[in-house]
Amino acid sequence: MNKSKDYVLEKYSRQIMIGQIGVKGQNKIINSSISIIGCGGLGTSAAQYLSMSGVGNLTLIDNDKIELSNLNRQTLFNENDIGEFKCKVLANRIKDINSSIKINYYKNKITTKNIKKYVGKCSIVLDCTDNFKSRIIINKFCYNEKKILISAAIQNFDLQAFILSSWSKHDNPCYKCIFPNLKNNQSMSCDEMGIIAPVAGLGGIIQANLAINFILKFKVNFKELILLDCQNFSLKKIRILKNINCKECN
Ligand SMILES: [Zn+2]
Repeated sequence: MNKSKDYVLEKYSRQIMIGQIGVKGQNKIINSSISIIGCGGLGTSAAQYLSMSGVGNLTLIDNDKIELSNLNRQTLFNENDIGEFKCKVLANRIKDINSSIKINYYKNKITTKNIKKYVGKCSIVLDCTDNFKSRIIINKFCYNEKKILISAAIQNFDLQAFILSSWSKHDNPCYKCIFPNLKNNQSMSCDEMGIIAPVAGLGGIIQANLAINFILKFKVNFKELILLDCQNFSLKKIRILKNINCKECN
C-alpha cells in the first residue's frame, strides 16, 4: 500500500481541511498510541473510528471469543467470526481500514501483573471493559503510570463517558473518586443488563472523539461526567470532584 505524503493528504483530507487540525494535527493523530482494553461493543466502535481517524498505533486486549449475541452491537464482527478471538478478528478488520497502522493484540484478561507489559507504551488507555474488577485495575495503573484514562459505560438507552488525568493535577479525580463503593465482583455486562445497538456504538465513538480531542490538544475537561440518554436525547454534563479520602489517587 502506498503510504506516501500524497496518500496521507488524500486519505485524511476531510480532517486536514479543518483549520484546527491541518497537516500538523493529522501527524499528531498518526503518531499517537492508544490501548483499547475490551473489544466488545465499546471497544470495536472506538477501534473502528480511531483507525479511520489515522491513529498510528493501537493495542487491543480481550480474552473473549465472538458469540452470536455479540453481533447486535459489536461493529466489524459478523456471523463467520463466531468462535474466533475478538481481539484477533478486530486487529485484522482494522488493518483493512488503515494498512499503515501498527497493531498489537493480546488474547488475555487484564490483570495487575500483565497490564504494564501490554499497555505500558501507550499514552492513552480506553477502558471498554464490562466489569468493575478490570476498571479498578485500569484506574490504578493509569494513576501510577501517568496515562490518560478514557472510560465509557452503557446500559439500555443510557451512556456515560469521561476522560481522566488523575495524576496531573492535585484536584483531578480518578475513577474510584467518582465510584468509591464499587466492588470487584460487580458486573456491568450487557449479558446481564441489556443494550440497544446504537448506544454501544455511540459510547465507543465518544471515547474515540475524546481521545482525538486530547491528542489535538483541544480543551478537554478532566472533571466532567458526560451522560447521554439516547431515548429522549438529553445530554447532561456533571462536574466530578476528587475525593480527598480516595485510597487510589492520594
Ligand atoms: Zn481517586
